[in-house]
Amino acid sequence: MDALKYLAGYPEHLLSRVRQMIDQDRLGAMLADKYDRPNTVRNDAQLYDYVQALKERHLRKSVPLGKVLYDSRLQVMKHALGTHTAISRVHGGRLKASREIRIATVFRDAPADFLEMIVVHELAHLKEADHNKAFYQLCTHMTSDYHQLEFDLRLYLTHLDLAKR
Ligand SMILES: [Zn+2]
Repeated sequence: MDALKYLAGYPEHLLSRVRQMIDQDRLGAMLADKYDRPNTVRNDAQLYDYVQALKERHLRKSVPLGKVLYDSRLQVMKHALGTHTAISRVHGGRLKASREIRIATVFRDAPADFLEMIVVHELAHLKEADHNKAFYQLCTHMTSDYHQLEFDLRLYLTHLDLAKR
């Protein structure tokens, strides 16, 4: 298995820096140092309030929220982020139709910034089904360092995988 599968599509100079961090066993410490705010959103009721608050702040006029829940069956890369390069129509379309937001359970135990990043991602899908330019503009409107957060989330997932080996 490719250790950098979560980072497909990112430029080689970034990937070689990541490989270096992995080789020197520094990836986990770097992430723990940079993202030291624990996620306090522990259950579905708290998650609903959290998502609703972000929506009120940024996307008040979009469709009302349906269900909001942590889902242990969701795979982050397959269902939540798609791939960096490909457009995931089914994913966005499904969310738009049902207006519910499911967050992979891995985010419950991840640092708070990554939960914010994925919630922003899913809220942006209320207005844009595809991962297009307008979609990412919405994401950066809601959280200005969105792209850095998504990159670092991919590093975090890489780190979790490596730790399991
Ligand atoms: Zn998406």
